[in-house]
Amino acid sequence: MDFSKIVSSTAYELSKALSDGATTSTEITSAFIDRIQKVDGQVHAFLYHDPEDMLAQAKESDLRRSQNLTLGPLDGVPVGLKDVIAVEGQPLTAASKILENYISPYNATVTRKLKESGAVISGRLNLDEFAMGSSTENSAYGATKNPWDLDRVPGGSSGGSAAAVAAREIPLTLGSDTGGSIRQPASLCGVVGMKPTYGMVSRFGLAAFASSLDQIGPFAQSVEDVALLLEIISGHDPLDSTSYPVEIPRYSEVLKEDCQPCKIGLPSEFFGPGMDDEVRKSVELAIEFYKSIGFEIIDVSLPSTDLSVSVYYVIATAEASSNLARYDGIRYTSRSQRAENAIDIYSKSRGEGFGEEVKRRCILGAYALSSGYYDAYYLRAQKTRTLIRKDFEKAFQKVDVILTPTSPTPAFKFGEKSDDPISMYLSDIYTISTNLAGLPGISVPCGFSDSGLPIGMQLIGQAFEEGPLLSVAHQFDREHRLGRQAPNL
Ligand code: GLN
Repeated sequence: MDFSKIVSSTAYELSKALSDGATTSTEITSAFIDRIQKVDGQVHAFLYHDPEDMLAQAKESDLRRSQNLTLGPLDGVPVGLKDVIAVEGQPLTAASKILENYISPYNATVTRKLKESGAVISGRLNLDEFAMGSSTENSAYGATKNPWDLDRVPGGSSGGSAAAVAAREIPLTLGSDTGGSIRQPASLCGVVGMKPTYGMVSRFGLAAFASSLDQIGPFAQSVEDVALLLEIISGHDPLDSTSYPVEIPRYSEVLKEDCQPCKIGLPSEFFGPGMDDEVRKSVELAIEFYKSIGFEIIDVSLPSTDLSVSVYYVIATAEASSNLARYDGIRYTSRSQRAENAIDIYSKSRGEGFGEEVKRRCILGAYALSSGYYDAYYLRAQKTRTLIRKDFEKAFQKVDVILTPTSPTPAFKFGEKSDDPISMYLSDIYTISTNLAGLPGISVPCGFSDSGLPIGMQLIGQAFEEGPLLSVAHQFDREHRLGRQAPNL
């Protein structure tokens, strides 16, 4: 197969071409390596990739196929991982200086599952340091660029995972989403990105940011591809005590059945001021589409929405301050050369190893948890989190899914928000409450701005109801296929 045809194909198409004998994993993998070499100098989505290792995996896949021992639909298809997901023997930096020389001694559960499905594990993708941010500008190794406009951010924190798919450097990637880090960059880069229900996908081997919010999830050009990848990475894992014992349906089969009759809820709180006009227009067109295919559109209310950003920045930072205590210069992190005594080892290693945003959050979180302030901040935030969850429960008595914009604006310029943490925090205003409530959410491309920047809509489902959620998303995506449009690079 022609290289340019390979890199523009979806994972589904590649999988079919493999099973038809039209191509080989070696050919597919070579095409993507070639593409990475051609465009990643501009995009900087990858922090690391090892062509030799990728080709060795591809060769094994081809051998299995020749012996009729193929492991599943993704056998031989390349998948890239955000640089917070452990792959044995490969670097894991979390885009931080403090983990500069760290090599993972084990595989994350999702990595193991991908390997067992025959996928070609292909490189480490850039992010905001420890997944804290919305633009990848917080990466210690330089920001990723938005492939649609290299002067703009790809979103974050999983900006590398989104940009790599948009730039056709790889068909599938995984990211992690604590407050929007899969959905927001998917929206800004014009690809599909999904955060599963909390507990669907094991967090074992994911460098923790805020453990009660973090979930790993897929990026791809289409909802179908996302379903395919989700099916592989989901499922109960005894190594993650918050992973939920639930039966995983074959999502790719579920998509064949439309959600009909289906009710979509529009929360009034998500359609107020602060939203860019072009975003509003594209999302409204998507709503019109759903009406035209017989969906019922119902107004719902999520009254605690305006508290979600504040609640998130108390809970997420509290958990981060505790999770990041392990990076101490004593064990596997890099140690300051200037340390002269034990206290120095901690303070100088952390002082030199962490970037500004990570430090800001550790300090904020430690403050919220400190005695005297715990009740005033942390406990109140937890109580408000319950209110946010209850709002959703009430809304879901009336509707099957909820539709909102994913991000208030299309991709913004580098530097536009980096000096103003609050304005950066507000770019997650539509995605954060989904994490606080533990619900699944997916961002699907639904339009372009006049200047050609992608715009995404978010669909939110009920807990562990990924099937209907994907189905509703697919009904839009198969008609519009906007994730198939590629930027000129
Ligand atoms: N942008 C949000 C933050 O900075 C969300 C990050 C994420 O989901 N990992 O915390």
